[in-house]
Amino acid sequence: MQKLRITAVNVCRFVLAATFIFSGYVKAIDPLGTLYKLKDYAAAMSLNGLLPDWMLVGVAIALGALEFALGVFMLFAVRRHVVSRITLAFMAAMTVLTLWIFVADPVKDCGCFGDALKLTNGETLLKNIVLAACAALVAWRPVDMARFISRSNQWIVRYYTVAYIVITSVYCLYTLPIFDFRPYHVGMNIKQGMEIPEGAEQPEFESTFLLRKNGETREFTLDNYPDSTWEYVDTRTVQTKKGYEPPIHDFALTSCDTGEDITEQVLTKKGYTFLLVSPRLAVADDSNFGDIDQIYEYAEENGADFYCVTASANDEIERWRDLTGAEYQFCNADETTLKTMIRSNPGLMLLKDGTIIDKWSHNALPQTDDLTAPLQQLTIGKAQNDSTTERLLIVLLTFFLPLSALTLADRLWAWSKWIRNKQSNNRIFNLFKTEKKMRKKIVAGNWKMNMNLQDGVALAKEINEALVADKPNCEVIICTPFIHLASVAGVLDSTVVGLGAENCADKAKGAYTGEVSAEMVKSTGAQYVILGHSERRQYYGETAEILKEKVDLALANGLKILFCCGETLEEREAEKQNEVVKAELEGSVFHLDAEAWKNIVIAYEPIWAIGTGKTATSDQAEEMLAYIRSTVAEKYGAEAAEETSILYGGSCKASNAPELFSKPNIDGGLIGGASLKCADFKGIIDAWKK
Ligand code: PEP
Repeated sequence: MQKLRITAVNVCRFVLAATFIFSGYVKAIDPLGTLYKLKDYAAAMSLNGLLPDWMLVGVAIALGALEFALGVFMLFAVRRHVVSRITLAFMAAMTVLTLWIFVADPVKDCGCFGDALKLTNGETLLKNIVLAACAALVAWRPVDMARFISRSNQWIVRYYTVAYIVITSVYCLYTLPIFDFRPYHVGMNIKQGMEIPEGAEQPEFESTFLLRKNGETREFTLDNYPDSTWEYVDTRTVQTKKGYEPPIHDFALTSCDTGEDITEQVLTKKGYTFLLVSPRLAVADDSNFGDIDQIYEYAEENGADFYCVTASANDEIERWRDLTGAEYQFCNADETTLKTMIRSNPGLMLLKDGTIIDKWSHNALPQTDDLTAPLQQLTIGKAQNDSTTERLLIVLLTFFLPLSALTLADRLWAWSKWIRNKQSNNRIFNLFKTEKKMRKKIVAGNWKMNMNLQDGVALAKEINEALVADKPNCEVIICTPFIHLASVAGVLDSTVVGLGAENCADKAKGAYTGEVSAEMVKSTGAQYVILGHSERRQYYGETAEILKEKVDLALANGLKILFCCGETLEEREAEKQNEVVKAELEGSVFHLDAEAWKNIVIAYEPIWAIGTGKTATSDQAEEMLAYIRSTVAEKYGAEAAEETSILYGGSCKASNAPELFSKPNIDGGLIGGASLKCADFKGIIDAWKK
């Protein structure tokens, strides 16, 4: 069952990782495309204009980067808890959003995978429900995700991924998307892209043109297109009948000078045509107009056509002419078509015999140095080979290869560390094997709030008799409620069974109704006191500072201390057990000097194992006790650490005690439930004889 669960979590994790990496990457390499999609959503929610475009570009980059980073982090199991929760929240939000677009149909394509993969709204909803279920499973058991890279090296994956995707995104915004999934990609013959195969059902489109004359704006179609006294305002193309939809179905050019449809003329032209594409000239970047004008002059000299294609009206065109000195011809086309053609405003496209052979953003236009000969003699004038594989390889080499190398190095490092640890553990083990004899072995009972006085005294008598008859080879202590102490002290042979309290006050004496001081405990004949038990920390709010006071008072009154520490289940799942335990020791006992330290016995009790029947495995317990011993060694030196008795507590029974006690660092147990019956308790004590 456990195996099945772990497999399921890991399968879901890889499904999420692959989807998020893909969807994040295709968004990140096309920030303008993502921006257009965000605007579609904003328009559908009547939120248009809420944020300026430059801010929306930031949102688009952040969205792509977030998805990509979540995917990579999921793949490498980086920050498993946080990442799985963010993924779940993200998927929950996306599922609600896609439910809305499925029901209300405000946008036709969700934009989840940019232009790389188009899904219907129904498919998107289904996909998101599946992914949300995967995310819920992973968020439920994040620690089941196997790590590829150790925690200490995960920061490299985190920073590298975020830096890589943000830089890629900004680069693509500055130039053009590295991968072009749109129909107007390099190599596409526009005319062929518009063809409908024989026999395929014909879709029908209708373009309407908004034109203005004497302040009156009217709609026209191609059939009743008026003379050039009408000023062009806008074009709208709508599909009136579904059918086979060719990849390009919305390419139509109308000359701004004559009002004629010049689509055929441009697409059938033999030779070269430059198309300067600007969806809106009013918001086009005019900083490179010098380069554009030079390319136009070059085109003129070399017999190539040059058009500026825009959806702008005459006034915007005039403004552009005044601003840039443009002498080239202008023609109109649908704004969405132009945004699809090139992700730059303006951007430049070069056609040869109607086929797109190159594209440039206005930031990376060909320079005069590149245009030294007729186009047919230049590299840019030749049809480019499809370089998709080359670019995929670059992505693999620049992103996945370094991370794979890091993973390999990390695994090798972890493996060599494991070997070194094993060797040094063997050395320490041998040392502790002998030293363990010198350290006190202890089995201590913690009765908690159980048994009245008579039953308690009877149990103490029974334990005492059993141990006097069959001498233990470890120190035995029973820790009882306050009211039992004096009476129990009277029935114990103190050379065989020690006595301890379960608590003492953090004040020396005075008006503290109901409290019992360390001095009072000592006066009963007890030699020990348990301090720092998780139940007292949890139910009675005992903080590190309060415990420090209690520790000092107990020692000042000649009591030895069984000091408890341990982590909760959440802390262990977050792999914080070491830091929790260290902080508990530092907060309450590490202020003691070396002499006082000799009176401290530590009991490591993972809270998730106390009274739950869930014992830590002997390896888990050994690992923690070895860690605690190394922490004591750091503070008090190796010799003091080797002399400190460290106990394990948490559902310890006669059945599991022999295995636990066989571990080199485990010096005995603090026993709760199993100390309330003489036979059970004795069974644990006898584990030292095995
Ligand atoms: C305890 O509370 O100290 C303890 C170890 O309890 P149990 O053995 O019942 O888990």
